[in-house]
Amino acid sequence: MSDAMIDISGLGKSFGALEVLRDIDQQVATGEVVCVIGPSGSGKSTLLRCVNLLEEPTAGSITVDGVELTDPDTDIDTVRRRIGMVFQQFNLFSHLSVLSNLTVAQRKVLRRGKAEAESIARENLHRVGLADKADAMPPQLSGGQQQRAGIARALSMNPDVMLFDEPTSALDPELVGDVLAVMRGLAEEGMTMLVVTHEMQFAREVADRVLFMDGGGIVEQGPPAEVIGAPREERTRSFLARVL
Ligand code: ADP
Ligand code: MG
Repeated sequence: MSDAMIDISGLGKSFGALEVLRDIDQQVATGEVVCVIGPSGSGKSTLLRCVNLLEEPTAGSITVDGVELTDPDTDIDTVRRRIGMVFQQFNLFSHLSVLSNLTVAQRKVLRRGKAEAESIARENLHRVGLADKADAMPPQLSGGQQQRAGIARALSMNPDVMLFDEPTSALDPELVGDVLAVMRGLAEEGMTMLVVTHEMQFAREVADRVLFMDGGGIVEQGPPAEVIGAPREERTRSFLARVL
């Protein structure tokens, strides 16, 4: 047993004959920010999707805050609601106001009353700089605002862990900074975060640790100054030469 918030042991994932993740061992401490970098197809999204069981691992185990996700007796929904996930695509309900987007799951899943759910939603909109957008409809927002609303929605469930899968990759360049600033704020508040990103500057400044993935495995990991600043592995160097 360890006191890691996320404890991944011997994780493997195959789709049929295609082995996408192999033998991943990884502990993420409470409050730690880990950025995952690597080429397209290296398994980054699959790793994140295994951590909230959007994909079922084919080998190994994953424990989040002491609860083993991979144990068949574990109630997946109970664990999953403690893990916030933000994707590249914003996934807001376009026919619901921003406020309603933030209260639906609170009410249905956490059974919070209307007033409480709305109060928590407004707090989190404030937290991401969208206090004045509660009554807006998602299509009226910029991509960056929609993504921040998505983050606020995830935070409204009081997650212990936040997973981000390329949250700024679909955004116009001038909108990226506001989303990264929100994520940086969360990191500073002590949120445990696993972040797949191509934003190397963000990874350098915010990550406690960087994982470089290639071919379904972790090739190199360590503090950003080492993995990004002075990579040991040739595969890491050639990847960074392409993205930096
Ligand atoms: P990354 O996020 O690093 O780009 P992914 O985790 O999305 O990589 O994908 C890793 C590999 O797994 C790729 O070869 C991809 O085609 C494959 N893959 C991902 N999801 C599926 C799936 N549902 N079925 C079959 N293959 C998949
Ligand atoms: Mg991906």
